[in-house]
Amino acid sequence: MPADSHCHLNDPAFDADRSEVIKRALDAGLVHILNVGYSIPNTQMAIRLAEEFVMMYASAGIHPHNASSVDERTLSEIRAFAEHPRVVAIGETGLDYYRDRSPRDAQARSFRAHIAIARDVGKPIIVHCRDAMEDAIAIMKDERIHEIGGVMHCFAGTPDDVRQLLDMNLYISFAGNITYPNASALRESLIAVPGHRLLLETDAPYLSPKENRGKRNEPAFIAGIIRQAAETRGVTIEDMNRISVTNFEEIFRIGGGRTGEIVYRIRNSLYVNVTKNCTNECFFCPRFFSDTLQGHNLRLARDPSVEEMIAAIGDPARYDEIVFCGYGEPTLRLEEMKAVASAVKSKGGKTRLNTNGHGNRISGRDITPELAELIDHVSVSLNATDRETYDAICNPSFPDAWESAVDFIRKAKLHIPVVTATVVAIPGKVDVEAARKFAVEDLGVLFRVREYNLVG
Ligand code: SF4
Repeated sequence: MPADSHCHLNDPAFDADRSEVIKRALDAGLVHILNVGYSIPNTQMAIRLAEEFVMMYASAGIHPHNASSVDERTLSEIRAFAEHPRVVAIGETGLDYYRDRSPRDAQARSFRAHIAIARDVGKPIIVHCRDAMEDAIAIMKDERIHEIGGVMHCFAGTPDDVRQLLDMNLYISFAGNITYPNASALRESLIAVPGHRLLLETDAPYLSPKENRGKRNEPAFIAGIIRQAAETRGVTIEDMNRISVTNFEEIFRIGGGRTGEIVYRIRNSLYVNVTKNCTNECFFCPRFFSDTLQGHNLRLARDPSVEEMIAAIGDPARYDEIVFCGYGEPTLRLEEMKAVASAVKSKGGKTRLNTNGHGNRISGRDITPELAELIDHVSVSLNATDRETYDAICNPSFPDAWESAVDFIRKAKLHIPVVTATVVAIPGKVDVEAARKFAVEDLGVLFRVREYNLVG
């Protein structure tokens, strides 16, 4: 059940058969649709649709193509629309140097004026940018857009652009062009976006995905975009649907009140959110940036009890594995984790422990023999081949944390069937090949690289 973060059912292209298109969107299970305004009458139409259909929302704005028409009167109309409760964003606005249908200085003025409205009404901005990334980034930095937040829609830039936009507190939305055979570079950018900042859109009636290329696009066609995004990012379609909906609700501030989940499913693994505490503060850790990971809210108000964890898991045999993980270090709650693992094993489930390897240090004894019958696979975040690098990346709460993790791996190997050391591929900080050699040759365990930004 996906969400379409940017389309134009308010466009005249749908005048002849809008109700059939909406019915197909409902049949396709779309949970939310944002109809984006690009002119005054078109914004009015988006608002009418949002008033009529509960799954639709509107944004209010003037497209950069029409920037030369923007004056004080149109801006005051946009400002009035922005107060409407079904208007959840301002835009689309931005810069389009590909078509250059309005003078560039008019586009820049309109862009800045839209940002000012978004700031005043406290709603996110939707940015259109074509062949103008450098100027768009300069304006957004100058206007302190990170204080407002928003979406870079129909993203077509590089992984380096992704990093700059993330630093400006923007979500990044991908459209049907990710499905095109020659779009491998764009799919690299898709991988560079962390799960909590990713949106998907049709941009209907434009830019149909490859299976519908040449036809008018519509929200039901988002299925092809979801499929491609799931394949590129190595998750299931169900995972991708959930990510699209959760992030839509986060950025457009709807459907609030979600609370932290005790268990969460990714692919066919069920993860247990054992604790909200950790002995590290890794600078890349998703818990410092977002309540959500892969579309799941992991921000626990308190640590769950053993009974709550067992009840939330249900029948463990339904999953490939039960993974002790979450927004914290599971071995901080060793006894609780062992009790849950014991229940899982008694019901025929498989278990994995994702850990930073501080468990022996935390408990003041070698805990690996205690895990022997309970944990089938332990995955330890090694992250570095020396203490200095580890400390710089992970900010541990005690001095010999890297040595503790290494010692844990050596001891775990004696008792647990499968042991994997992992590193996050952080450009310029982690020497992946040195870590692989250290894990495989020195420690004698399996090795896995986790993609920076796809952690989780
Ligand atoms: S060890 Fe894991 S949970 Fe703890 S800060 Fe690092 S990434 Fe986050």
